[in-house]
Amino acid sequence: MKEFAYSRAADVRDALTAAAGDRGVRYLGGGTNLVDLMKCGVEAPTRLVDVRRLPLDGVRDAPDGGLVIGATTTNSDLAAHPEVRRRFPALSQAVLAGASGQLRNMATVGGNLLQRTRCGYFADLASPCNKRAAGSGCAAITGVHHNHAVLGHSEHCVATHPSDMAVALAAFDAVVRYETVDGPAEIPLSRFYRPVGDRPDLENALPPGALITAIALPGSAASPRSRYRKVRERASYAFAIVSVAAALDLRDGLVHDARIALGGVASRPWRATSAEAVLRGARPTPDRFRLAADAALSTAEPLRDNGYKVPLARNLIPAVLDELVGTENER
Ligand code: SF4
Repeated sequence: MKEFAYSRAADVRDALTAAAGDRGVRYLGGGTNLVDLMKCGVEAPTRLVDVRRLPLDGVRDAPDGGLVIGATTTNSDLAAHPEVRRRFPALSQAVLAGASGQLRNMATVGGNLLQRTRCGYFADLASPCNKRAAGSGCAAITGVHHNHAVLGHSEHCVATHPSDMAVALAAFDAVVRYETVDGPAEIPLSRFYRPVGDRPDLENALPPGALITAIALPGSAASPRSRYRKVRERASYAFAIVSVAAALDLRDGLVHDARIALGGVASRPWRATSAEAVLRGARPTPDRFRLAADAALSTAEPLRDNGYKVPLARNLIPAVLDELVGTENER
């Protein structure tokens, strides 16, 4: 690991000032991904600015009936929060599906959003990787890619985003709040992650030096009837092959609102808006759920060795929707 400076921010302004004008500064939350990447040489910050003790933690009610989650809230505290479990159960389930208990005790919500892909070539300095070194190539396209993307990838990168939490947040139309030296700002999660395009190293829309301060979850009638299911290669502590976050608002026997987001299939949480359109206004039947799943995967372009993800996702979506119809909170 290369030498770096360390400081603990006294407040948000102090953190922003420390990062201003120095692209080598990284904010340190739980460090569960960043420190790993420093050890293998993918990240070599000049300074770590520790933001974990800033008073940005906790979950509070928002005036619109939603919740605001502080950026330094740990994954464990988020998953256990009674209002998250009651009003946004898929979010609690998604967080609990990620990592191990020890990691969830350390990892922060802000850091979870910013974690990097687990593509093996990304962490291997001897391999070409456009995400780690722009313009160097992509070893995964012709190499080992059975767990890579089937949607939204490009010839420059086929990696997936590793976060479970972000998939549930995508389904709930979350908004990312952040601060820069110019003041507070926010961006919907739907525009937070950049499409891969020809610059997979540019992953999100945060301005340089910005510090994520909170995530806002708008109130929604669909969110209490929500589920997160994750398929992985072993029972615990593994990243998603395919995951589904779904929510339904059922009224008078029809789907009034539907939310579906997929994980493990794209470089970002993949909101399946075409599937949602198939469901809205329709009766919640198994046939309709299968049509929705077909719509969600209609633009899939599997690689040589990951075609299995398409039928997997196509089967998982109706299974989760079936579960939701069976829950008790129909209005
Ligand atoms: Fe790098 Fe992306 Fe290719 Fe993996 S898939 S080697 S992260 S460019």
